[in-house]
Amino acid sequence: GPAPEESAYVRDWLKEKSGGFQHYINGEFISGDKSQKIIESRNPATGEKLASFPAAGETEVNAAVTAAKATFPKWSKLSGHERAKYLYTLARLVQKNSRFLSVLETLDNGKPIRETRDIDIPLVARHFYHHAGWAQLQETEFADYEPLGVVGQIIPWNFPLLMLAWKIAPAIAMGNTVVLKPAEYTSLTALYFAELCKEAQIPPGVINIVTGEGETGELIVKHQDIAKIAFTGSTEVGRIIRRQTAGSGKKLSLELGGKSPFIIFEDADLDGAVESLVDAIWFNQGQVCCAGSRLLVEESVAGKVTEKIKKRLSSFRIGDPLDKAIDMGAIVDPVQRDRIQTLVEQGEKEGGEVWSPKIDVPEIGCFYPPTLISNVSPSNVAVREEIFGPVLTSMSFRTLKEAIDLANNTRYGLAATIWSENVNRALEAASMVKTGVVWVNTTNGFDAACGFGGYRESGFGREGGREGIYEYVKLRKEWGGIEKPVP
Ligand code: NAD
Repeated sequence: GPAPEESAYVRDWLKEKSGGFQHYINGEFISGDKSQKIIESRNPATGEKLASFPAAGETEVNAAVTAAKATFPKWSKLSGHERAKYLYTLARLVQKNSRFLSVLETLDNGKPIRETRDIDIPLVARHFYHHAGWAQLQETEFADYEPLGVVGQIIPWNFPLLMLAWKIAPAIAMGNTVVLKPAEYTSLTALYFAELCKEAQIPPGVINIVTGEGETGELIVKHQDIAKIAFTGSTEVGRIIRRQTAGSGKKLSLELGGKSPFIIFEDADLDGAVESLVDAIWFNQGQVCCAGSRLLVEESVAGKVTEKIKKRLSSFRIGDPLDKAIDMGAIVDPVQRDRIQTLVEQGEKEGGEVWSPKIDVPEIGCFYPPTLISNVSPSNVAVREEIFGPVLTSMSFRTLKEAIDLANNTRYGLAATIWSENVNRALEAASMVKTGVVWVNTTNGFDAACGFGGYRESGFGREGGREGIYEYVKLRKEWGGIEKPVP
């Protein structure tokens, strides 16, 4: 597991806050109104209570937006170079506190410490470093553009601090100020990040973090002084937000759900493909928007691939997420686990063959075994619905065309993975799948320099890279109210 002292530091910090956490508004920690609902955060691996924090109401959201609005003129007029210094400082502080943040994230979310330590937190730092670079280039690369103003950002629980970084880094790099709400299940790393903002001496009001549930999110979405909403979460809530911002003049970007195909052709390196599949659907217990949740495998190798998957899963270890040796941690919350269970049962009722390895699954805590559902038709609920858990459906195909038809037979379009040793075939398939991201002979590759986002009901807008920057700026000059199209 992690160094014992890191766990001890995290415990001490949580104990210090046992009276309840506060919002981070205008550079200060503020409790807000006494009438606020109090939310509890639990460790999903044990059920123990970790912390409590308030759900911001109108008073707190207004205070956060007012602070962000007041600071905007000053912050946006700083040179890109000056703003970059703040982003570099945040990046370094994340690195300096990376072990602490990894343990805290794992306690709060249930994901394996190996993932928070090697993936989540390093990518958070990388995101701030990368966007510090863009900030420095503002005057040369984005001379025609200006920041939007106050942006409202609402994020989910599956990559709590990473989603925060995806939102905050590009926004403040370009001179916007921010009101961000973390997900109610996982607010702790965001609140620790608020302390890092203070340490980095980010000017008060540039970054505001308010905790709360959907109601708090709605207050942000509807606030008149907010210029843009950036949302990552479910397609259902994305739809509500789109309706609520319609006609408001607010800019909007939505990163929503997915049901991503994972295509294995018969000439693929099958061992490599199966290992990649483990990453695609069992990483973060499958609670990944771009999870490769639909296996499409060429019929001639389908039997072999299934055997390899079953063998691999039979050596899986599920348990204490703080244990470095485990493969899968806990599901974020009992509500989510029950949802997974319900969808698997429905899939079985509709004819799916459900298989899980005979391995130990802890009885205490919120765990769900890795699950494979085969013998499914395209209309099976397990194939159609995003399960957002460690559940893979498997179907076979005979031709490239059939593979692509199956791959595109979904309302989503976030990501696709293709495995083949024939580069022509792989690239042909890549050009035919209708998704925002395609990986060939690898999967779940993320980098701050690369725009990430979906097609169709997976949302619109990109995060990361140059495209991600355009989400946080507008053209300085407008011609008859029509903006020059973004390149
Ligand atoms: P969710 O939509 O329920 O919640 C996301 C956030 O929105 C939370 O902070 C929540 O409090 C807030 N919220 C809820 N109702 C709201 C409302 N009416 N107005 C404003 N805010 C509201 O989603 P979730 O269950 O937390 O996350 C899982 C979903 O997120 C999955 O569907 C997954 O695919 C998606 N996701 C997508 C991406 C992506 O980049 N495309 C990344 C991660 C997760």
